[in-house]
Parts: sequence; C-alpha cells; structure tokens
Amino acid sequence: MALKSPRFASNNHLQQAATNLAPIRRGSTGPHVAIVQQAFIDLGLAMAITTKKGAPDGIFGGETESRVWQFQARTGLTKDGVIGRETMTKLDELLPTNDPPMQPLPPSVMTHKINVHMRSIDNPVVPEFTQLKVMQDVFAQYMIDVIMQSGESIGLAPGEQLTLNVVDGDCEWDQVSDEQKLLQNSGSRQNVGPNDITVYFATVLREKNGSTLQGCAGHAPTRPAVMIAASAIDKTTMAHEVCHALLGSHFVPVHTDDSANLMCNAAVCTGAPAYLTVSQLNRVFASKLVHKLPS
Ligand SMILES: [Zn+2]
Repeated sequence: MALKSPRFASNNHLQQAATNLAPIRRGSTGPHVAIVQQAFIDLGLAMAITTKKGAPDGIFGGETESRVWQFQARTGLTKDGVIGRETMTKLDELLPTNDPPMQPLPPSVMTHKINVHMRSIDNPVVPEFTQLKVMQDVFAQYMIDVIMQSGESIGLAPGEQLTLNVVDGDCEWDQVSDEQKLLQNSGSRQNVGPNDITVYFATVLREKNGSTLQGCAGHAPTRPAVMIAASAIDKTTMAHEVCHALLGSHFVPVHTDDSANLMCNAAVCTGAPAYLTVSQLNRVFASKLVHKLPS
C-alpha cells in the first residue's frame, strides 16, 4: 500500500521499501535513511551517534539497526532490523504528519530477564551499582531486565587476600586458572541458579604474558561467571563482560570496531550509549542465561 504521510510519501526509496521491493537495511545511505532516522527520533528513540553532527546522518549503521529492532519490538512486528513493508507501513500509521506524535510508541515492556549475583573482594573505581545501572540501561533497550539477585562483599582470609590481590591466568572460555577458580569459589553460592551469572569484582586481573585485563568472561563449565578488575574505568565493563557470557564462545566477531557497540574493542570504545546489533541480539536471546518472563 502506498505511503500517505507527507514525510514519507514523496520518497521513492521509502515507497519501494513499503512494498517490499527494496527493503532498507544496514549499509544503506542517503536521504531516505535520514527521513527514517528522524522518524525514530520523533517517536522517542534517541540516536546519539547518528545525530552527533546535528541532523540525522543518513547512514544506516549499527545504531539505526538497533533502533529498527526496538521499533519492531515495541510495535509487535518481526524483529529483523530491516525496514520493509511491515515496518514502513507502521511508521506511516504512527506518523501521519510531519510533526512528532503526541503519543510516541507503545511502552517498553520487559520480556526477558538476566539474573546476576555480585561478589566483591575489592572496591572498583566504577562502583558496582553504577556498573549494574549501566548494564540495566543497555539491556532495557531490548526489553531484557537485569535483576540483581544477590550481592556480597567477600571477606577473605589474609592468605587468600594475598593470593587474590592479583588474579593470574589467561582469559579463556570454560576453563579457569587455579587463582580464578579460588576467586570464583569465594563467597556464597546459595541461591545461585545454574543459569544465573556471577560477577566477581577482583583487584587485578593479569594474563600469563603480563598484560592486565579490565575484565574477563572466563569461567568453569556450567558456572557462568565474569570477573572485573577494580581498576576498570569503563562504566560498561560489567555489561560488556556479561554480554560475552551471553554470546557464548562461538560467536564472531568477538569484538567490533564499532565504537558505540557494547562489544567494542577496548581501544575504540567511546562510552556512548552502548547498543547491540541484530545478529548479537539474536544470539543473546538464544542464550540459556536469558530467561523469558511470563507474559
Ligand atoms: Zn571483551
């Protein structure tokens, strides 16, 4: 059906997308992308990266894909991050004029949850609750609730404290060094479910080659856990490491050069509001660590 809204109707690309002739997807660029980006902004989905020079940039990158997914999720459409007939028709319906609508979008309702247990042997530079809040904000975009099931400051015996001042051992999947094991066995495991994630705040994490890590998602089999160094200065460290646990060991790319993606390479992260791509989201939702909430 032809688009009616004046903001969309005169653009050929958008009319073609509305008939599914030429869906608009990641990699597309041009004025038609900018029109859709403005539509999402008017609907209340902020786009910090897209608008960093002021007006929407017309580049369909990771942030735009993430917003398409959110729009689809909020309006009950198929969540594929691609703008085709369904998505274009819904945009046309919600934005009949050039003005932003009075009521932007149906509210975001949490559909899934992640259970986390926090264990601290040291005080991180970015406080545990700051990191938790950042993680909750990242995942709330995708209707995943992050629930802190328990928290504990672990008092170690002096000998253990000495051993764990520096936690040595490479960050590898499904296997841990003796020291990592000692850390990951510290504190209560009461009420920690097999598909819950335990987050350990350690003092220093150091690999065998001497390099230090901000965090590591290495853990023993069937005991999903991540470790975070007290010195980590990136507020998204906990969200990033937990996301490694959700993506699993086979997901590629492990890291991305997209600086605002949650899984950015440490060297390129901007600290901008972190988002996930649709392929990352598909894997996250398939993780057994992500629990569907009763509807
Ligand atoms: Zn990482």
